[in-house]
Amino acid sequence: MKTIKVSVVTPDGPVFDDDVEMVSTKAKTGELGILPGHIPMVAPLEIGAVRLKKDNKTEYVAVSGGFLEVRPEQVTILAQAAEKSEDIDVERALRAKERAEQRLRDQKAEHYDFRRAESALRRAINRLSVAERR
Ligand code: ATP
Repeated sequence: MKTIKVSVVTPDGPVFDDDVEMVSTKAKTGELGILPGHIPMVAPLEIGAVRLKKDNKTEYVAVSGGFLEVRPEQVTILAQAAEKSEDIDVERALRAKERAEQRLRDQKAEHYDFRRAESALRRAINRLSVAERR
């Protein structure tokens, strides 16, 4: 099987580095599947899961938005935060979800903090969903 090198990088350092057969993720424009030989491109990402397929196994990484860059030999995902499914602290994500839900109940929809709480809620839900796939 042909492979392509994938790096998931955050300000705290690399989170994932390996050769995979396919990487798929959620771009702002919709689901993106990248196979070796894909044309070069750059795309902004949603808060979502990155799926990395190799040897009939799939690894999952939760990313909090960021950018995907495809080059001939390499895919780079630059994210503000990213965690492999096995590194996700479920209790922490549950607490973050509760906090965000409480803030959403307390805030008016047009308020700046409402949008912040919405993003926090989406990050927490994404982490919980990726943690279930370990
Ligand atoms: P919290 O309120 O729990 O900090 P958050 O969504 O505000 O959640 P971020 O600002 O996205 O957190 O991330 C801060 C750092 O903490 C990043 O390095 C991120 O990878 C890590 N992180 C956040 N939540 C978790 C979690 N549930 N498990 C493991 N690492 C986490």
